[in-house]
Amino acid sequence: MYIVLLGAPGSGKGTVGEKISKQLTLPTISTGDILRENIKNQTKLGQVVASIMEKGELVSDDIVVSLVKNRLEEADCQNGCIFDGFPRTVNQAKLLNKIINIDKAVLIDVEKDVITNRILSRKTCPKCSKTYSMTIYKQDTCLLCGEKLVKRQDDTIETIEKRYETYEQQTKPVIEFYKSINKLIAINGDDTPDGVYNKVLNAINTEN
Ligand code: AMP
Repeated sequence: MYIVLLGAPGSGKGTVGEKISKQLTLPTISTGDILRENIKNQTKLGQVVASIMEKGELVSDDIVVSLVKNRLEEADCQNGCIFDGFPRTVNQAKLLNKIINIDKAVLIDVEKDVITNRILSRKTCPKCSKTYSMTIYKQDTCLLCGEKLVKRQDDTIETIEKRYETYEQQTKPVIEFYKSINKLIAINGDDTPDGVYNKVLNAINTEN
């Protein structure tokens, strides 16, 4: 089963994706995590994408589609996967359609002001990418690996504005694309992490 999670930055795709991935025993493919890993390891690709990501702009379709294509060839993706943060343009969605047939695209719908507050109060584990809301979680190390939590470099108010603008202009049309091929289900994401998880799971289990 191939599931696409759609939503603005901070809508909860990463958090819910991680839980859905455990529940369905499918890997998550997060293009943002793959790109950050390249920056951390100072690969050639990492050097190319670092400044683009810091500005809140999109990395080219060619780069991300080829990363996804390679990742999909790995053994753990043979029964499907959960996409988090991909596709982000209609072109990416169309190219993905040529590689696999996705089962559902679930839109996690959240208002911009809620998202901004969430992003400004979140920290991430640099090792396993687990994200914590500092309004709820008061420690500064990761529960899973003990690493010191960090703020993502692009989680600043200026970059959030730019990322949201990029989302409105380039990613919102992806919602229409999945609607047009009858794959889209939208849920209200202004809820607790468990609430969002249950809604997404229901959406996945609902017949179209
Ligand atoms: P994320 O972790 O999904 O919020 O992604 C962080 C940043 O990585 C984005 O702001 C983009 O610069 C880049 N990125 C992640 N996924 C994609 C994608 N599918 N297409 C283009 N750029 C991406």
